[in-house]
Amino acid sequence: MILYRLRCTKGHEFDSWFKDGKTYERQEKRSLIGCPACGSSKVARAPMAPRIGKGGKPAEPPAEAPVEATPAAAPDPQMAALARAMPKEMRETLLKLREQVEKNLEPVGEKFAEEARKIHYGESDKRGIYGQTTDEEAEALAEEGIEFGRLPWIPRGN
Ligand SMILES: [Zn+2]
Repeated sequence: MILYRLRCTKGHEFDSWFKDGKTYERQEKRSLIGCPACGSSKVARAPMAPRIGKGGKPAEPPAEAPVEATPAAAPDPQMAALARAMPKEMRETLLKLREQVEKNLEPVGEKFAEEARKIHYGESDKRGIYGQTTDEEAEALAEEGIEFGRLPWIPRGN
């Protein structure tokens, strides 16, 4: 089971469980998911940080990530302090996620939003990318139904 945070076109956010990422995609394409607040079936995944469970495992492992999965966190000087303050287990989980992303996805830097759109609308080859984007751009992407994920981009080492 996988927990997704969803958002309808009117901006209501809600959490919903799915058997796996594919099940979500299928239901979303067929408009089978309804917003509990207004009943709209036009929903998209809302940006969210990976959830860290009790065992230190994210509820959303990288294997479940959609093709356009992307950590979109902007470089943040506070992140280093945050990384130092977080439990070791959590830091390691985030670092592993970061490694997975760097190994499997193509870096596009600040062009992330632009490139994600091109892929979504078929103007670019379908592939996994990662990069940075602003909160505003991330919201716009989510409204257009473009799938991506966000994760805190913590620095390597201490
Ligand atoms: Zn709604």
